[in-house]
Amino acid sequence: MSSATLHRGLLLVLSAPSGTGKTTLARRFVEAHADAAFSVSVTTREPRGAERDGVDYHFVDALAFQRMIERDELVEWAEVHGNFYGSPRSTVDRVFSTGGIAVFDIDVQGGQSIQRGYPEAVLVFVLPPSMAELERRLRERGTESEDSIRRRMLAARSEVEHGARAYDYLVVNDTVDRAYGELEAIVTAERCRRGRVDLAALGLEAPRRGS
Ligand code: ADP
Ligand code: 5GP
Repeated sequence: MSSATLHRGLLLVLSAPSGTGKTTLARRFVEAHADAAFSVSVTTREPRGAERDGVDYHFVDALAFQRMIERDELVEWAEVHGNFYGSPRSTVDRVFSTGGIAVFDIDVQGGQSIQRGYPEAVLVFVLPPSMAELERRLRERGTESEDSIRRRMLAARSEVEHGARAYDYLVVNDTVDRAYGELEAIVTAERCRRGRVDLAALGLEAPRRGS
């Protein structure tokens, strides 16, 4: 039996101001872990650059998004930069049944609503090394208009203030390798937490209080 089967499912939420590099970190994490699944969000925004439907997002119209809310198919949803985004419940259900890791690349309000529904979720906020570097990365990605860059930079400061207060862990994405190492360390420690190791699967009972 591999040790992964002894772990209960883990919800790992990554949030950061747009352009910080959380998608880069999330994708690398999922590629490195066979039991990790990226939570592909549903969105009403248009695809940009080389984004693919079903891989980067499920792109839907406002009516389809509304139907998913009504059918309770989203564990959380929010309006961000004028578009709707939501996380499918099916990913969470799958991870809890297999003991894997679901990686969410969502905003702070989404992360907090996941934690309200699933208090054991782990919330990691990724910080840019500076606001100037954040703006440089947004421009370098080459996917945003000037107007969108301005809007995202305006939102970034309050996102940092909010996320730095509300999240469990803060990781500065100065170099990808260093930040990724911290992310791995967080997940390794969280997976070993008392309560996340399935003692029954080992044939051991959980210790009783006071014993
Ligand atoms: P987010 O998902 O937070 O919006 P992305 O992962 O799309 O951010 O990264 C934004 C841009 O910054 C991309 O062009 C990415 O290649 C680049 N990037 C990510 N991490 C770093 C880093 N540590 N140093 C330099 N550039 C980075
Ligand atoms: P972008 O348009 O740059 O892909 O994403 C804009 C913002 O929406 C980012 O902060 C991203 O993390 C957030 N986002 C993406 N998917 C979801 C989601 O399913 N729920 C919530 N609450 N936010 C999301």
